[in-house]
Amino acid sequence: MRMSKLFVQTLREFPSDAEVVSHKLLVRAGFIRKLAMGVYNYLPLMWRVLKKVENIVREEMDSAGAQELLMPFVQPKELWEESGRWGAYGAELMRLQDRHGREMCLGPTHEEIITSIARDGLKSYKQLPVNLYQIQSKFRDERRPRFGLLRGREFIMKDAYSFDTSQEGLDKEYKNMWNAYTKIFKRCGLETKAVQSDSGAIGGSVSHEFMVITDTDAGENDVFYCDCGYAANSNHAISNLPTAKTSGDWSKAEIIDTPNTHSIEELCDFLKIEPTVIVKSLVYIVDKIPVIALIRADKAVEETKLMNAVKGNDIRIATAGEIEDIMKVNGFDADRGFIGPKGLKEYNGEKIKFVADETVKDMKNFVIGINKKDMHGVGYNWGSEVDLPELIADIRLVEAGELCPECGKPLKVTRGIEVGNIFQLGTKYSAPMNAVYTDIDGKTKPYVMGCYGIGISRTAAATVEAHHDEHGIKWPLAIAPYHAIVIPVSTKDELQMKVAEDIYKTLIKHGVEAVIDDRDERAGVKFKDADLIGFPYRITVGKGISEGLVEFKVRETEEISNIKPEDAAEIVVTAVTNLKMK
Ligand code: ATP
Ligand code: MG
Repeated sequence: MRMSKLFVQTLREFPSDAEVVSHKLLVRAGFIRKLAMGVYNYLPLMWRVLKKVENIVREEMDSAGAQELLMPFVQPKELWEESGRWGAYGAELMRLQDRHGREMCLGPTHEEIITSIARDGLKSYKQLPVNLYQIQSKFRDERRPRFGLLRGREFIMKDAYSFDTSQEGLDKEYKNMWNAYTKIFKRCGLETKAVQSDSGAIGGSVSHEFMVITDTDAGENDVFYCDCGYAANSNHAISNLPTAKTSGDWSKAEIIDTPNTHSIEELCDFLKIEPTVIVKSLVYIVDKIPVIALIRADKAVEETKLMNAVKGNDIRIATAGEIEDIMKVNGFDADRGFIGPKGLKEYNGEKIKFVADETVKDMKNFVIGINKKDMHGVGYNWGSEVDLPELIADIRLVEAGELCPECGKPLKVTRGIEVGNIFQLGTKYSAPMNAVYTDIDGKTKPYVMGCYGIGISRTAAATVEAHHDEHGIKWPLAIAPYHAIVIPVSTKDELQMKVAEDIYKTLIKHGVEAVIDDRDERAGVKFKDADLIGFPYRITVGKGISEGLVEFKVRETEEISNIKPEDAAEIVVTAVTNLKMK
């Protein structure tokens, strides 16, 4: 490819709406252009990268025994009704109607479709196990599309689905996919950590996310981990707490004035107590219904855990206005700082739900809000002054330093970008959709399913997060849009041009994807673009050629050496050949 013909417009400035490095660099280096919120054009350089990621995924999935197919992007409502997800999947599901008024959706994931394909074709245990996958665009109307390709609304995903006759079979395939994922990300130049996670809208019991660990804002997940190997997303992490004083010193239960104690800190200061003797009440709205969460006041609620505890699909903290309303409807007048469970019954015709975190169940003589402004109950106990909710669950957000549930050592925390996710679905889809096979004993049974996703576009962006410097991207050779660039410093210098063209031809002849920068531009401009776009190798033909030398630069390490043109070509050819043999 000749740089003068390459379809790429690099920008001088970073885009103003970009917050994270991969978004900034991919736009500035001419890889992507925004079309609508969370929807991007993949320009030629990006498409080359994406195809390479796809091919690595394809090779490893095929060699793990999976078979590729392609399902439609648009899906009919009926199948989603069969699985029960038409109602359950929230606003992320982009619903639409065709000209006949039939309801459809843009596929955010394909469990329903693949299950219907399986039930039409896989009738006997003899045909199982099977693993089917596709690489395709997905659409999720994300609440907060941001960070460029890391969280788009339309994005490319590889999704695979396995069908087995038993849990043992599923366990085996899960491990098989785990191994394939490890290889895939390694080949893309990414180090990943597999962490336990919540299964979210996909469902199922066991699931692991493959995280690229980063200390930047691009890591939207907190990962808690321990040297012993335990690692979990914050939405799934558990911990043991060091012992704490969880009983107050009051000799009797009473209501006392606590003026202006709107925060836990103010309440602690006023009463001269530790937060570990306070039961904090927080109001959430889960699928439009208020849910009051009770937790020891030194700890925070993990929203996904709370949502799962009440089997909800969508959660948010209640607004001040809603809290005021809930109070009023139930005959109280108090704000956020004074809420308590007692006496709160209904809202908008729905029964208010209560969830107690594990931390509160053994507390005694505690302090708690009683829905009266500037007052609290002190010396309260469950069962006498206030009832412990029936639903007790772990809804607590783990903090670093709490103790590892497996070995007891303090947990550490880091941030991660989720690039892949594997799930054990069991019969979550096959049972309601009546997707069954006939077993060896002649009985019909639902398939035991697993599903396995990789964000293709997110993986490419995560690679930029992991491989860049202040000058631009440092693509790993395996997914770089081109392997090398040859730069003649002066296109007017005949010798430089000739050597550059010769090197370029040699590279192409040996299967290297090379670009020659034949533009009549200053050398500085060419170097800047080469660094920004992130070619793994740069061969510069300049004045040194009068002594038979070219400048050879490795982008990842920024190492520069002056070597013979044939040696430079040889290094690149060997690296690319080795890559192909992997
Ligand atoms: P997240 O928690 O980041 O929203 P998810 O857990 O909902 O993602 P999955 O349903 O597990 O996503 O999808 C499989 C993979 O698809 C993810 O591991 C991720 O790599 C990718 N992916 C999911 N949502 C997006 C998105 N909005 N933009 C880009 N890639 C995405
Ligand atoms: Mg996921």
